[in-house]
Amino acid sequence: MARLIDGKAIAADVRAQAARRAAELREKGVEPALAVILVGEDPASKIYVRNKARACRECGIRSEVVRLPADATQAALMAEIDRINRDERIHGLLIQLPLPAHLDAEAALAAVDWKKDVDGFHRMNAGALLNGTPTVLPCTPAGCMELLRRAGVALDGAQAVVIGRSSIVGKPMALLLMQANCTVTVCHSHTRNLADVVRRADIVVAAIGRPRFITADMIREGAAVIDVGINRMEDGSLCGDVDFDAVCEKASCITPVPGGVGPMTIAMLMRNTVQAAEKYAE
Ligand code: NAD
Repeated sequence: MARLIDGKAIAADVRAQAARRAAELREKGVEPALAVILVGEDPASKIYVRNKARACRECGIRSEVVRLPADATQAALMAEIDRINRDERIHGLLIQLPLPAHLDAEAALAAVDWKKDVDGFHRMNAGALLNGTPTVLPCTPAGCMELLRRAGVALDGAQAVVIGRSSIVGKPMALLLMQANCTVTVCHSHTRNLADVVRRADIVVAAIGRPRFITADMIREGAAVIDVGINRMEDGSLCGDVDFDAVCEKASCITPVPGGVGPMTIAMLMRNTVQAAEKYAE
């Protein structure tokens, strides 16, 4: 039976560390602050933004939510980004994704001052990650790495399989695993014989967005399983990309959904915001 990797508890510890660093900054006269731009009324995005603001309060980070209407123009969005870029009292800026379809998310992300990019999505920071010289790590993959390390999973030389190749999860996850000396395979919707590939993995990271897609027959005995997926079911409950109950019988350790990767993403955002404020204070 797999050991549960308690993302909630680990995230609480990461947030407590961030809170201590935030307190030290306040003693030096710098109040760490995060601005979040939320465009439109997407219910999931509203919940995420509310959770981020709550985490900020708990960590002693000031937060400011900038709300724009669903029909906001690109110019209005860019003006807000520019205003926050110039505001010396704000150290982190996050644009809640997805943006409404008529807006150019790429252009918006590129306009964020890369020193305030606490999501690690700016092409400057994405490029540094590719080079192996990152200063800020994207929150979700960084949270997954923290979970693997704290669970004591051996990374050096391990076979890691990442399912999903998005710019915010799959790709940066593969880079971080590679940096930790794993042998990494990235699977996606065009991968042939997916089950065979996943079965070779010592470490499985699922970031697909399909409920219970990774089944027990795809999991090698003793593998470590990180489930990034968040799928809202018809009854309102949340479910991961991994068939949790069955996979528990084979994995050595596994993250639950909810209570696994989700809380880590927010905790890493707190860490990144404090780090941006520390760099500013220097
Ligand atoms: P995405 O839609 O951008 O990417 C999904 C990836 O899955 C794609 O690369 C696609 O090729 C791959 N895929 C789709 N169908 C597949 C198939 N049949 N076989 C193999 N690969 C397939 O999604 P994303 O933004 O990377 O997010 C993935 C999941 O993680 C979603 O459920 C999302 O809600 C969740 N997520 C969670 C957190 C968190 O904090 N826990 C953060 C970000 C995303």
